[in-house]
Amino acid sequence: MSALRYYVQTMGCQMNVHDSDRMGDALRAHGWTETSGPEDADLVVFNTCSVREKAEQKLRSELGKLAPLKKAKPELVVAVAGCVAQQEGEKLLGRNPHLDLVIGPDNIPELPRLALDQRNGALPTARTVFDYDAPQFLAAQPSAIEPTRAPVSAFVTTMKGCDERCSFCIVPYTRGSERYRPSAEIIAEVQAWVSAGVREITLLGQTVDSFRDDALPPPASDDPDETQFPELLRAIAREVPALARLRYTSPHPRHLTASLIAAHRDLPVLAAHVHMPVQSGSNRILKRMIRRYTREEYLDRISRLRGAVPGLTLSSDFIVGFPGETDADFEETLALVAEAGFTSLFAFKYSPRPFTPALKLGDDVTEEKKSERLQRLLAQVEAQQSAHLATVVGTEVSVLVEGLSKTAADGTLTSYQGRTSRNEIVHIPDCGRALIGEVVRVQVTEAFRHSLRGDIHPSEISRLAPKSSERRTKRSLALVPAPTAG
Ligand code: SF4
Repeated sequence: MSALRYYVQTMGCQMNVHDSDRMGDALRAHGWTETSGPEDADLVVFNTCSVREKAEQKLRSELGKLAPLKKAKPELVVAVAGCVAQQEGEKLLGRNPHLDLVIGPDNIPELPRLALDQRNGALPTARTVFDYDAPQFLAAQPSAIEPTRAPVSAFVTTMKGCDERCSFCIVPYTRGSERYRPSAEIIAEVQAWVSAGVREITLLGQTVDSFRDDALPPPASDDPDETQFPELLRAIAREVPALARLRYTSPHPRHLTASLIAAHRDLPVLAAHVHMPVQSGSNRILKRMIRRYTREEYLDRISRLRGAVPGLTLSSDFIVGFPGETDADFEETLALVAEAGFTSLFAFKYSPRPFTPALKLGDDVTEEKKSERLQRLLAQVEAQQSAHLATVVGTEVSVLVEGLSKTAADGTLTSYQGRTSRNEIVHIPDCGRALIGEVVRVQVTEAFRHSLRGDIHPSEISRLAPKSSERRTKRSLALVPAPTAG
């Protein structure tokens, strides 16, 4: 009998991308093989997000599109995973007659068995139980990857769930309370990725910097916002010296403490870029959002971080049109964006989410106003990004090359693409050498709206292997990871 085939469609954040990868690992370990589309699949999984309303609408539309295929092929197993699955549970089965399986983020290890049960005629099932008693973190299997196909960057989960209760956010409901992965497991996975050829690791968690593990030294002070995340960073830097770059997403500004700032100062492996969600520049709105910091505290913390790491760049997340947000509140947001000097950001229009405390605040900002504010915010950060990129022209930067950038019409390669430690995207013309996965010195010659162009320093050419030995990375470029929450 030929192997069963699966297809996973991912919606939402990097946490979901990571969960989809782990679903693939679990299924392949049970003999399934991946296929490139639903038409050839025996199992289709929609891995969903419910942080914003649009992702849920997309699920409804995708399920609708799949209905004719399911009708023609009734043995096809259709599953919904991720946050919408956790949020809606059995109700999803009732609303979607061609849906077979609803599976929560903590139940991914059970996916192969549950999918097989469905193929064997089990009744439609919803399995959405949090693993509080024995938290499980699905480990990646880097050793199974052929060396020539190792990705340049990989994500490693450090924690799951969230103990914050931001009033707009559904994550505490869909991902549960915080659970931390043992640091030894995290370090072992980082080591395994690096041994497989990965150069850059991004630590992943809903509030990644709230990390705790009794096996690590205790926080350096009795500041209640101190955690053991800085110690985790130090342990990774110490135990995996071959790692080229270390990033993390998404932190909560509360935990940008003196210890975390000191870790940035001391560890060259830590990227000189931090994505630090702020959500609003108005204290009145931050309070209604239950963010537990003021704009002054936020600005003070990032200014201390910048003091410790000169040249560090920052990006952030914003919600516009939160209930009660006035024009004056929004002007404060624009002023904060300017003062913080963000070089990029993710911004979304507020949409009420089920089970969130903000529901009782209504949704009083008109759609027109939300759109207008979103456009102004994006225009401002785009101008800041362009101005920043212009300052980099003429300098020499270190670029981790992540993949191919452009190919000509005949398919020949014309340039590569990579990122600096500060998260600037750099295009590098082909120089006849194998560049993917290399950290190279580049002279920046030109700035575009969102990226840079530069030439490899001539002294680098001789140490690089010929292009014939180029690695073929599996993962497509995800140059700016979408936020996981924070
Ligand atoms: S926005 Fe981030 S910190 Fe706030 S509740 Fe959601 S996941 Fe937690």
